Amino acid sequence: MAEHLASIYGTEKDKVNCSFYFKIGACRHGERCSRKHVKPNFSQTILIANFYQNPALDPNCELDKEQLQSHFDLFYEDIFMEFCKYGEVEDMRVCDNVGDHLVGNVYVRFAYEEDAQRAMEELNKRFYAGRPLFVELSPVTDFAEACCRQYENGECDRGGFCNFMHLRHPGRAIRRELEEAQRLSLREKRSHRHSSTRDHEEREGHGRSRHRSKSRSRSRSRSPTSHRHHSHGSGHRSGGHRSSGHRSGSSSNHHHSHSHSHSDRR
Ligand SMILES: [Zn+2]
Ligand SMILES: [Zn+2]
Repeated sequence: MAEHLASIYGTEKDKVNCSFYFKIGACRHGERCSRKHVKPNFSQTILIANFYQNPALDPNCELDKEQLQSHFDLFYEDIFMEFCKYGEVEDMRVCDNVGDHLVGNVYVRFAYEEDAQRAMEELNKRFYAGRPLFVELSPVTDFAEACCRQYENGECDRGGFCNFMHLRHPGRAIRRELEEAQRLSLREKRSHRHSSTRDHEEREGHGRSRHRSKSRSRSRSRSPTSHRHHSHGSGHRSGGHRSSGHRSGSSSNHHHSHSHSHSDRR
């Protein structure tokens, strides 16, 4: 019985759970759907609903195909770089659908759930091009299941109102550029992740061991490593002061500095 339920979960046969919400992370009935939209508490994927504002949808739009593509490429590049600040981005998809529940939807799958969680929390406080962002954890992890196969073969007759994802792709040059940028940022992230874990341990160790000189000397021996890593990217903090204030505060400050960026402009 349980096995049977597991095998139909989130499929069309499942009369309780909405297969559209499960597979695509959005369903045209929204909150009024007769089937359940089971929102995940943890996920690698975040959904930023109605994020890309396609100028082509404005009836007065005078941009040609090329201009529309570069408008999209700029957007894609901008947000990709932003998401990378929260962690390793495995995949990012932008919907070209026009139905209300899918128009401009952006799905970002991170390598780690904790990064997705942090991205969701931080981005929900932010604006992009003057509009507040609405970010949620999404059940979608398999984009192949979410995408419209007919569309990919050029034969979807439901057009933009299709309820499966019709994806919009960035130009090839942009994709290559971003892959490279991500490789670089990952390298930095890894060393940062490494150093902030150490910093954390160090802080904990420091607190716990106030009266135990043995572990304190161990923690002191670690600090030069974390200093070196922290000097990446945040120039004004790279002075290399060895005061304990710097040691205990730097890793969290460093995190916060990520949340201010050019896309905050209203
Ligand atoms: Zn539904
Ligand atoms: Zn379709």
